[in-house]
Amino acid sequence: MTKPESAGYDYDVVISGASIAGSAAAILLARRGVRVALLERRSDPEAYKVLCTHSITANAYPVLDELGLVPALEKAGAVRNEARWYTRWGWIEPRAAPGGPALPYAYNVRRSTLDPLIRSRAEQTPGVDLLLGHQVTALIGEAGRTVGVRASTPRGEREIRARLVIGADGRDSAVAKLAEVPTQLHENSRFGYLAHFRDLPLPGGIGQTWFLEPDMAYAFPNDDGVTVLAVLPDKKRLPAFREDLEGSFLDFVRALPEAPPIDSAERISKIVGTVNYPLVSRRPTAPGVALIGDAALTGDPLWGVGCGWALQSAQWLVEAVAPAAAGRGDLDRSLAAYARTHRRRLRGHQTLAVDFAKARPFNPGERLVFSAAARDESMARHMYLFASRLIGPLQFLNPLALAKAAAVNIRHRRKAAPSAHLSRTGS
Ligand SMILES: Cc1cc2nc3c(=O)[nH]c(=O)nc-3n(C[C@H](O)[C@H](O)[C@H](O)COP(=O)(O)OP(=O)(O)OC[C@H]3O[C@@H](n4cnc5c(N)ncnc54)[C@H](O)[C@@H]3O)c2cc1C
Repeated sequence: MTKPESAGYDYDVVISGASIAGSAAAILLARRGVRVALLERRSDPEAYKVLCTHSITANAYPVLDELGLVPALEKAGAVRNEARWYTRWGWIEPRAAPGGPALPYAYNVRRSTLDPLIRSRAEQTPGVDLLLGHQVTALIGEAGRTVGVRASTPRGEREIRARLVIGADGRDSAVAKLAEVPTQLHENSRFGYLAHFRDLPLPGGIGQTWFLEPDMAYAFPNDDGVTVLAVLPDKKRLPAFREDLEGSFLDFVRALPEAPPIDSAERISKIVGTVNYPLVSRRPTAPGVALIGDAALTGDPLWGVGCGWALQSAQWLVEAVAPAAAGRGDLDRSLAAYARTHRRRLRGHQTLAVDFAKARPFNPGERLVFSAAARDESMARHMYLFASRLIGPLQFLNPLALAKAAAVNIRHRRKAAPSAHLSRTGS
């Protein structure tokens, strides 16, 4: 049964959390005629997530486009994200094929720019009521399903009834906890710190990522000439690192291959970070409830994929449930369709990320593909498509790609050691 006996909803949908996922879902739902209450516990419309390096992967471009945000992002100085990755085999430098299409991109843009922008767009969308200072504290249940929320507000407690409650309230989602949605936590064996700099040029003016096996680091140019630098070492290094956080951070960066010139740059933020950031996987639906963004799946920050998936999962949900959320279809079946899409699109990515979060060195498959990508442009493009989450793990590691990677490496070895090869083959 989809509709509870007692109708009388205040809204069709109530969303907990007006950050990336919640604001995107609110806009897309309201454009389809759904009445939305968008609740945000913080009262400041300019509030933003501090703990983020905000490189938004290319898989999110179509959602940014559908939201109509691309011109505003470009105007705000968001930087189209190109990247190169350091490995022990050298730099992987993805470039468009000669005469081929440009590489897909999205943007590096500070959350202090992005979050207020997307939230204000939601507020301006007819059909959305943005309710700041509203913190979801309980769910209203009826006949085994959720039919609304209770929220603490600047004017006291308030009940808001709705056909569907969306949890877009991040990794520690109150909605997920209150709905008792099954949750899996996966240990992350790295910790991370980041800081913002000015006057920190990067080679080629593009993003850099260092795979140091097992440590990681990255640097991204952002809007307003700001570069964000992040280090993600193995947790074994944490006690020593913490003894002198600033010194350790700077030394770590100075030791990177082709290190950014950190000593001549100006640091304009505190060094902030997290020492315990498990990956989270949740079932993305329950009766009357859907989870999107980090509330449904929190990936490993080192891959920089959470913002893109926050936007995409909002879009997948809206496409599946909009008619039913407005009372014109079967909500349970629509929620089941969303859950299937979410699982199909993200489960494989998360499985790989959970394994990599063990801070282990590259496994044989990764060695094969990363080394080939450092030596061959088409393999570099193949890696770029995966890192941009435009292809999934099955396509990334398909037999043809692996065979190609093996051929690249054999060719490379022959070139590197022609005399050894000649004497081995006897030719
Ligand atoms: C160190 C680090 C670096 C990262 N770097 C990147 C990167 O480079 N690229 C990338 O794509 N991703 C990155 N991420 C991940 C990214 O930050 C998240 O995936 C993204 O913010 C998820 O968006 P969201 O809208 O789902 O949740 P959030 O942005 O977490 O927003 C949740 C919202 O819900 C509100 N809220 C919470 N509880 C309640 C409640 N009870 N009632 C009402 N409102 C509530 C919060 O105030 C907040 O506004 C990084 C994460 C970390 C930790």
